[in-house]
Amino acid sequence: MPEGPEIRRAADGLAEALCHRPLTTLWFHTAALNRRAKALRDQTIVAVRPWGKALLTEFESGWQIYSHNQLYGRWMVVPSGTRPETKRSLRVVLENDEAAALLYSASDISVLAPGEWQTHPFLSRLGPDIFHPKTTPALLRRRLGSSRFARRPLGALLMHQPFLAGLGNYLRSEILYAARLHPAVRAGDLDRDGAGRLSRAMTQLAERAYRTHGETAPKSWVRARLRLGEGWQQARHWVFEREGLPCPSCEAPVTRIPFDGRRLYLCTLCQEAPA
Ligand SMILES: [Zn+2]
Repeated sequence: MPEGPEIRRAADGLAEALCHRPLTTLWFHTAALNRRAKALRDQTIVAVRPWGKALLTEFESGWQIYSHNQLYGRWMVVPSGTRPETKRSLRVVLENDEAAALLYSASDISVLAPGEWQTHPFLSRLGPDIFHPKTTPALLRRRLGSSRFARRPLGALLMHQPFLAGLGNYLRSEILYAARLHPAVRAGDLDRDGAGRLSRAMTQLAERAYRTHGETAPKSWVRARLRLGEGWQQARHWVFEREGLPCPSCEAPVTRIPFDGRRLYLCTLCQEAPA
């Protein structure tokens, strides 16, 4: 399942193909969407950005195309005028003189007027996206301090989309490890230092995973593990998928536990359980 960094890279690929070029084709698979899309005619796309697992394609007037791939949806970028061999069903075509961005198989697609996201059934329930420029450690500290989230344990809160959109399972383990916090600690019980460490770890690790295509540990750590013969899949994290291997800090074996329905990896010495 892709997480925020992977979805942001998919958005980058679409933005590179589409932004600031006049569209030659704008097509949707339903008559209702094509009627709505008349509002987008003769406009250029100015940005493509992720919001959680959704993508927003933004036009100069503030209108947006919302799409959510769920399990089956897939964007493909091909040279203009060509179409890939596929049995998938085509849902959206955004094409200019050089490239065509084609969305296949997704069923959750809307054309939204400016501000209309606020009443959209999916978007209106989402917290800020981890990669939005306004999602700073200071904003995250304020959200951690909100009474709305105080009773949630951190291991559940980090994946709770109304709190923050875009963090998935590998980032959850790695962020909690980096912040030296046990997943059962409740947001309302964090002290000032803990909230600061957690807020910084959220933005820093997501950004690093985006830049490095999935590494959460620092380059020096990843390189040292690769030299020892580990594969990249394992070497790229501090604790995630490293059960039984030594904690990078104290060398106690990394533990795997189920938490909020998904596997979580931690060091039980560095991340002390709440009393
Ligand atoms: Zn440790």
